[in-house]
Amino acid sequence: MADTGTSHVVVVGAGITGLTAAFTLATRHPGVRVTVLEASERVGGKILTTPFAGRPVDCGADAFLARVPEALELCEELGLRQVLTSPAERSALVWARGELRRLPAGLVLGVPTDMDALAASGIVSADGVARAARDLHATEAPAGEPSGAPDGDGDLSVGQLVRGRLGDEVYEQLVAPLLSGVNAGDADQLSVAAGAAQLAAAARRHPSLVRGLREQQAEALAGGADPNAPVFYGIPVGTQTLTDLLLARLTAARVPVHLSCPVEGIEHRGTSVALRTGAGTVEADRVVLCTPAPVAARLLAPLAPDAAAGLGELEYASAAMVTLAVPRAALDHPLDASGFLVGAADRLPTLTACSWASSKWAHLADPDVVVLRVSAGRYGDTAALDLPDDELVAALALDLRTTMGLSAAPVAHRVTRWWDGLPQFRPGHLALVRAWRADVAATAPGIVLAGAAYDGLGLPACVRQGRHAAAEAAATPIA
Ligand SMILES: Cc1cc2nc3c(=O)[nH]c(=O)nc-3n(C[C@H](O)[C@H](O)[C@H](O)COP(=O)(O)OP(=O)(O)OC[C@H]3O[C@@H](n4cnc5c(N)ncnc54)[C@H](O)[C@@H]3O)c2cc1C
Repeated sequence: MADTGTSHVVVVGAGITGLTAAFTLATRHPGVRVTVLEASERVGGKILTTPFAGRPVDCGADAFLARVPEALELCEELGLRQVLTSPAERSALVWARGELRRLPAGLVLGVPTDMDALAASGIVSADGVARAARDLHATEAPAGEPSGAPDGDGDLSVGQLVRGRLGDEVYEQLVAPLLSGVNAGDADQLSVAAGAAQLAAAARRHPSLVRGLREQQAEALAGGADPNAPVFYGIPVGTQTLTDLLLARLTAARVPVHLSCPVEGIEHRGTSVALRTGAGTVEADRVVLCTPAPVAARLLAPLAPDAAAGLGELEYASAAMVTLAVPRAALDHPLDASGFLVGAADRLPTLTACSWASSKWAHLADPDVVVLRVSAGRYGDTAALDLPDDELVAALALDLRTTMGLSAAPVAHRVTRWWDGLPQFRPGHLALVRAWRADVAATAPGIVLAGAAYDGLGLPACVRQGRHAAAEAAATPIA
């Protein structure tokens, strides 16, 4: 898009979304002057890497999807492509029916496309396999499944879709653990369009969800997709390298990045926008607002009350990421996977998922010490996060004893609490986002919304939104 002349764009929030927006403005839109205002004393937001057991280990995101290209493209632009790595272990396990069992081949977001592999996995009962296989013969979508626009009134929850098509067991033992692992949420309340778009597309093309997914796979292969291509990428020196590099590029481009500078209010002054901070007021022609939804709601309340009210109602889940170092000899398992999820029918008292970081990532491998990234807490349940660190670690060690035979206390631990860290997308979310954006465009012109609360919370979705927001802010004519 063509720029419309020199203007000042202020980016609020220096997580991956805001940094990408600022970097894009600075590098692709020479007519734009950029300033970044960040509330905390560091950039990166939910991306954080700190040393643990002598190595950089992520406290939050440790991988991003390869299939959605934007994060990979940003890494290329930053010169990170060569260092990217993919998981050394590609398979994962699930704690189901009293055992750690390997996820069957052919899963798409937890939905099995190979019924023989599903049966052999032992994750669901024979009745559960038979119920799932009935989907293959479906001639019409189950009664009650909405038929409207998939990202509008045709949206439904992942639970509604998968329970209706393949039955409760597949949903509870495979799909729910996998998707709940992404947003610490309840997949019975997760929008298919916003949280599992691939399932939405498959469900639309065929009354059998499995056949719809198989058709998608066949088409991708016919189009030249490599079935052995990595599904995820990670950065060996830590995901924070991405946000650190963005900051370095912004600094090199002389873009001011003000830390410990929370924006406290936004108002229109004639054709410009004034942002009030503790250090004074900053005038901008346009604002890219990349904060979590509650902050955006507060800042927009006087300007776009309808959008603000909607944003204020967006729910979040809190989760703890507990990193443990455990002596290899204290674990009774070959650790030949990237980690394990927990089936909904087999919930553990505290642990919700466990990534075997030193098996998953070659750069964290160590013959004597195993690094585990253990998750606790889920939407509506913060009991684990409320525990003091030592009690939380002890509770997780008990669950690791149940699942992996852990026989000794961890030799080191690090607890990271992500309070309200993960937005929850209910059915109809994408239609709401469109309405919020339309309201802001109409009543608060010059303000662009982007970030995990809107079109997807994964890193590629955040990067994509940062790119789009930058293009929009650069192109919007000054009122
Ligand atoms: C535990 C965990 C694990 C995850 N794992 C993965 C993963 O493996 N792969 C993946 O793709 N994604 C993962 N995610 C999701 C992903 O990390 C986040 O969705 C993404 O980083 C959010 O980026 P953002 O820039 O939109 O928001 P944030 O990172 O939340 O950034 C918002 C910024 O706004 C700032 N801010 C707030 N208020 C103000 C204000 N008033 N003024 C100025 N600044 C303000 C905040 O300080 C923050 O820096 C994970 C998330 C969590 C919590």
